[in-house]
Amino acid sequence: QETVRLLSSSQVITSVLNVVKELVENSLDAGSSSLEVKLENYGLDRIEVRDNGCGIKAADAPVMAVKHYTSKISCHEDLECLETYGFRGEALASICAISEVVVTTKTAEDDVSTQYTLDLSGHVISQRPSHLGQGTTVCALKLFKNLPVRRQYYSNSKKCKEEVKKVQDLLMAYAIIKPELRIIFTHNKAMIWQKARVSDHRTALMAVLGATSAANLLPVQHRQEQPEISIEGYFPKPNSDLNSTSSNSSDKTFIFVNGRPVHHRDILKVCLIKQKSGRRFPILMMNVIVPASSVDVNLTPDKTQVMLQDKDAVLLAVESVLISLYGSYSI
Ligand code: ADP
Ligand code: MG
Repeated sequence: QETVRLLSSSQVITSVLNVVKELVENSLDAGSSSLEVKLENYGLDRIEVRDNGCGIKAADAPVMAVKHYTSKISCHEDLECLETYGFRGEALASICAISEVVVTTKTAEDDVSTQYTLDLSGHVISQRPSHLGQGTTVCALKLFKNLPVRRQYYSNSKKCKEEVKKVQDLLMAYAIIKPELRIIFTHNKAMIWQKARVSDHRTALMAVLGATSAANLLPVQHRQEQPEISIEGYFPKPNSDLNSTSSNSSDKTFIFVNGRPVHHRDILKVCLIKQKSGRRFPILMMNVIVPASSVDVNLTPDKTQVMLQDKDAVLLAVESVLISLYGSYSI
């Protein structure tokens, strides 16, 4: 029983990045406008995500980390029109199976927050009142303590640093798609990156990419019917000298499908325009919006790969937007 749980959980939760992603998405689903992500020892000793969202009701606490418990869908049909990042009720249960989890939470109705300590199977083993404000703080301690090989793998110093960088990139993606979100990211109590609450995607992109490259941003809007596809984003201005933008961020392409940060090889391929000059440069930010019923995000446990029902139409739409901006080009 324990072994089965460990094995299946270790496939959902494969890295520090995964844990952060799941916790952050839970915070976003809870309607938070503020996120604090803290890592200690590259996340191997402690991953903490604090939000100011709706909190977890005392009545739900005993089941929150039980496998397949979710407060987000109540029937099969809901799966066809997902509006939340989470829906499988798998993340908290899986994180419990590979680390020590402590959840502190307070809803608007609660007088004080409650701190719950969970065991490997996601059951509450102890609870006590605590002093936090409204929202939820989830701490995952001693990651992969029961998967020594994986812990060893991530303890490699190069791997560790890569992982922190990936966490930062992921937080940047949420920062762009959710401008109203305030984010603070620390490692061993040192500030790695932060972003204040802003009002629109452009300002958010500026905060993420740095002001110099933002001057070259061109807003893009495309809307079509049959199939229904919208594309919203910021692309580099046709004649802007992208080589002059700050080097570490200019190579970033943030692609979203219905607001979900995704890796989509085909879309990315269309985006990496090779202009006549032979230069390749990325699209800075693009959100492809399609009816929820035409996306399948259930391909991989971490939901970063999506299957689009009208993929060819989406690729064509992206391409036509690019051509209208930059003229014809070849890939
Ligand atoms: P899912 O996100 O797929 O529903 P999870 O295992 O990630 O499953 O979370 C289980 C449940 O715990 C959620 O459905 C939600 O009710 C609750 N929960 C988890 N994290 C938070 C949070 N930060 N704020 C409010 N509720 C939360
Ligand atoms: Mg979740």
